[in-house]
Amino acid sequence: MKAAPASAATPTGKEAGGVTRRRPTPLSELVSRQMSAMPSRDTGTEMALRRKLHSRGLRYRTHLKTLPGKPDIAFTRVRIAVFVDGCFWHRCPDHGTAPKNNGKWWADKLEANVARDRRNDDELERLGWITVHVWEHEDPSIAAEAINELWRTRLRGTTRSGLTNDVGRT
Ligand SMILES: [Zn+2]
Repeated sequence: MKAAPASAATPTGKEAGGVTRRRPTPLSELVSRQMSAMPSRDTGTEMALRRKLHSRGLRYRTHLKTLPGKPDIAFTRVRIAVFVDGCFWHRCPDHGTAPKNNGKWWADKLEANVARDRRNDDELERLGWITVHVWEHEDPSIAAEAINELWRTRLRGTTRSGLTNDVGRT
């Protein structure tokens, strides 16, 4: 009678002697990992966008708590605040769906999100910032290019006017 393979005999993954050996990740696990990553797709877009901006030589702060709405990406010198908005939570016109269950509750909640976005935009504008909203479904390369353009324009503005004309100072 043959002995069963060690892997089959040790369902916990522990080899004899207490050594844990890493086995190749089974496909099913990869799939389930992808599935579990799906609800936070906006984070994927945000990370991709950040990488693209960084590779263009742009430097920024992330999730600055001192700013209204805690922008995902903030260029403090030129005062550009970037928000990467999830299609569901921020009601993208293309993919924003309202759940049928508890329809009223969801409609109110999503409406409140959108209203808060607008309030934060207004607040930032008052502080001399310009806000950019990127949908999670958008191509991060195209978004990065647009932001890069805006950054250059804003930088020209700040260097030309200098500190004397700085918004918010008298
Ligand atoms: Zn969308």
